[in-house]
Amino acid sequence: MLKTSDFEELLDESVKIHGHLCPGQVLGVRMSILGLNKIIIHDPKGADRKSIMVFVEMDRCATDAVQSVTGCSLGHRTMKFLDYGKMAATYVNLTTGRAVRVIAKEESRERARDYFPGIEDKHRCQLEAYKIMPDEELFDLMAVNVLLRPEDMPGRPLRRVPCNRCGEYVQDMREMYRNDMALCKPCAEGGYYSAA
Ligand SMILES: [Zn+2]
Ligand SMILES: [Zn+2]
Repeated sequence: MLKTSDFEELLDESVKIHGHLCPGQVLGVRMSILGLNKIIIHDPKGADRKSIMVFVEMDRCATDAVQSVTGCSLGHRTMKFLDYGKMAATYVNLTTGRAVRVIAKEESRERARDYFPGIEDKHRCQLEAYKIMPDEELFDLMAVNVLLRPEDMPGRPLRRVPCNRCGEYVQDMREMYRNDMALCKPCAEGGYYSAA
């Protein structure tokens, strides 16, 4: 069980990786301690490391804290990034299937002021308040089911096929079929880049 007493240590570690201390680090560490406890993961970076996956819904400061506390990363395929723009993350226990989505409450941003009315700077006020506010004030919890496809799991790629248009290889079954032709996503539906 990750204890609240581990908080300072986990925050220090996260700040080292992220590069600065910010409200997002505090939130990310707090939400990860809560999420991991809810899915009964005691030792995320040790004994339980093969049993977790986390889905993050934001590419913000807190995401680095989630990575730091859980040990999950994009490169290990244990962290999935969904570009929802929401301050939320889902923690999945791959062994039991138990999953919980932790959502940061919007109200906590204002609520922080009640805890440290003397701190003028909003950022700094949130930073200090998020350290001590109870979980219930900071987060909503949602028990969820998460569909895990074999092609999303860690391990060797299940398939590698060349795109019929650009010739680049696509792995992990991310190719799309158009008129029976295998295409990469950018060729099938447009990508973030175009040739300069
Ligand atoms: Zn930050
Ligand atoms: Zn292509």
